[in-house]
Amino acid sequence: MNAKSGKCSEDCKYCAQSAHYKTGITEYPLISTEEAIKRAKENSSFGVDHFSLVTSGKGLAGKDFDDIIAIYKELGVQLPSLRLCASLGIMNEEQATRLKAVGVRTYHHNLETSRRYYKEICSTHTYDDRITTIKIAQKAGLSVCSGGIIGMGETCEDRVDMAYDLKKLGIRSIPINVLNPVEGTPYADKEILAPDTILRTMAIFRLILPNSFIRYAGGRMALGEHQEKGFRAGVNAALVGNYLTSVGNKIPDDIDMINKLGFQLKNIK
Ligand code: SF4
Repeated sequence: MNAKSGKCSEDCKYCAQSAHYKTGITEYPLISTEEAIKRAKENSSFGVDHFSLVTSGKGLAGKDFDDIIAIYKELGVQLPSLRLCASLGIMNEEQATRLKAVGVRTYHHNLETSRRYYKEICSTHTYDDRITTIKIAQKAGLSVCSGGIIGMGETCEDRVDMAYDLKKLGIRSIPINVLNPVEGTPYADKEILAPDTILRTMAIFRLILPNSFIRYAGGRMALGEHQEKGFRAGVNAALVGNYLTSVGNKIPDDIDMINKLGFQLKNIK
């Protein structure tokens, strides 16, 4: 769930939520506990067992961070079987420890692209800032979900380099987003990747990371009717529901697709 939208100080060129660009997205401050509980219950009723709050911004601090801790506490009380995840940007050790203490089990923080290409996509923080946060999360005992976005102008070698960096970091959950160019961002005119390129990338990630969950994420609508093929190319997990500023598949449609392919749907603990 996008728990805080827009007005971000960072200049990630692909992002609709950056304050550096005029994209017309709906902006809102941190959601209330009631809104989070409502959305978590809706998702849970479809059998979804991981629930993440995702906030815009370089990181969360002060009252916002205290408030999100209170939301996680309440989610834990009201939905004790739900696995809680967080994606709150760059964080410090104390914040990681607090998240762990209120029951958050997974921290999501993408590498986004390769080390070489990162400076092309963002100038307000570095690839190493991202790696530091991943290591802080791991040190605090959180499992880390980290992947990236393809179709931002990177080369095939950049995608392979990112896959090897994720492997080096021991990441088991790897969301692969496909750039969905957003009007108003510097990447508005990027060509959407062809389905064949997306599927080949998924397959290469599967080969490099045989024991990880290669996870469909934002932009997979670019595959159109080829979405099913991704599960044969190596995808074995999916983020479901709507993505941060774009619309995703409906959850029952995803479940139907997976069942139709003859795969067994498992909730991973
Ligand atoms: S990706 Fe995150 S840090 Fe970058 S502009 Fe968007 S919200 Fe801000």
